[in-house]
Amino acid sequence: MEIWKNLDDAMEAFKKNDPEKLVKSLAKAIRLHSRIVEVPDFYKQILEERIESYPNDLDSLVCYIQMETQRGIWRENISKASAQFPEDEYLALSTALFLLIYKKDAKAAMNYVERVLKIFPEYEHLLYCKILAVKSFDVNNDVYFKSIDALLAAVPDDSPYVPECHYLKAAYYCSIENKLKFIECYEAGLAAEKKQLSCFLPFRFKGCGLLENRYLKEISMDKKAYQQERKKIDPKRKFLISENRQLFKSHVDENGVKPFTPSQPLQGRYTYKNDWSTLKKITLKDMNPMKLEAYKECILEAKIIDWAVFEYCIHTVIEDENGDIQRLTFKNWALSDDIKKDIKQAMKIFRPNVKISIACPYYTGNEEIIVFGSDFVSFDTSMIDKFCHVCGKEAKSLLSCSNCKMALYCSKECEKIDQTDFKHKEICENLKIFKTA
Ligand SMILES: [Zn+2]
Ligand SMILES: [Zn+2]
Repeated sequence: MEIWKNLDDAMEAFKKNDPEKLVKSLAKAIRLHSRIVEVPDFYKQILEERIESYPNDLDSLVCYIQMETQRGIWRENISKASAQFPEDEYLALSTALFLLIYKKDAKAAMNYVERVLKIFPEYEHLLYCKILAVKSFDVNNDVYFKSIDALLAAVPDDSPYVPECHYLKAAYYCSIENKLKFIECYEAGLAAEKKQLSCFLPFRFKGCGLLENRYLKEISMDKKAYQQERKKIDPKRKFLISENRQLFKSHVDENGVKPFTPSQPLQGRYTYKNDWSTLKKITLKDMNPMKLEAYKECILEAKIIDWAVFEYCIHTVIEDENGDIQRLTFKNWALSDDIKKDIKQAMKIFRPNVKISIACPYYTGNEEIIVFGSDFVSFDTSMIDKFCHVCGKEAKSLLSCSNCKMALYCSKECEKIDQTDFKHKEICENLKIFKTA
């Protein structure tokens, strides 16, 4: 994704202390998708100095305005800036949002958007802004649906705006009690989510909880069953688990592990001694991808949902109570002289349905949580063998994979999903090595 590449470039430039390159890359990312780009706090000083020394530099202006609006500060100079650089789509967008959100003048925003859309007819964020403007004075109107369709026509299938457009329509039909249309649009939204890149999932939007509850009511399904159904088709889940299994396959041989020289655990450096009962509970939703540091004084409670891979660290996938998932990388697992034995031992702990509590989780921003050693975690293995490895459903007796006997399923359907979609076949033979009686 181009956005992430530009953000990485900006970070690189930050490390090399190259403010010019930083604002250039950051401004590019902001123009691509200002809603998902968050300017990290540690850029603040650089951007302030930059705007002071080069008040007329377009890229610096773009970064500065994005940082300020993100911090809730709207400056009257946004409109001035866009008049100075009428060819910049981001400044046009900011001006429209300034009128709409800060000035609360939907009519003025609408007029402005209509005008700048003539210059940037394909700029999806402006098209989205138009929808917001129309919505704030009259949803009961042809223009509203037309503006939604205009955005749908302008963006590719994997744009996060596609599901949102369908859900906006669904919300409208919900409000006028047109049940059939509501279900149709909501399901179109669900289908569109499947085409999203994994970094945009799970898909969240304002009011999604209400809409989801209504949908469940209409199709008479309870929430737990619905979440289990969604796990079977969630593209992010499919991606992260398949990827983990690909890694698994490339790191085991007939003895269970390819020879490797592990990095030595760093004694004493990564220890955690505080009182766990005082830690604040957080979920994956509370972790900001732009905050590249440990969440001190916090605890993340999750469930391991895949097998462990031993590279130099331990890799697996975890799921929190909301059903959100992320990669987990465990560093500094203590090793003895007998690595094979260590790995077999660790395989008993790092496996589906084991609960893991992580103190001070470290989020790298790359869909990955890092744990720096055993002092930061506690495990609860009592749930092993009680839940389906695919959908998480509890069952008294679970089916097991006929070959490895390690993977457990609530139904033939889940077995099939695991074998094909989640690539169980690739690891099945090797998994047998870790079967314990
Ligand atoms: Zn299942
Ligand atoms: Zn198997």
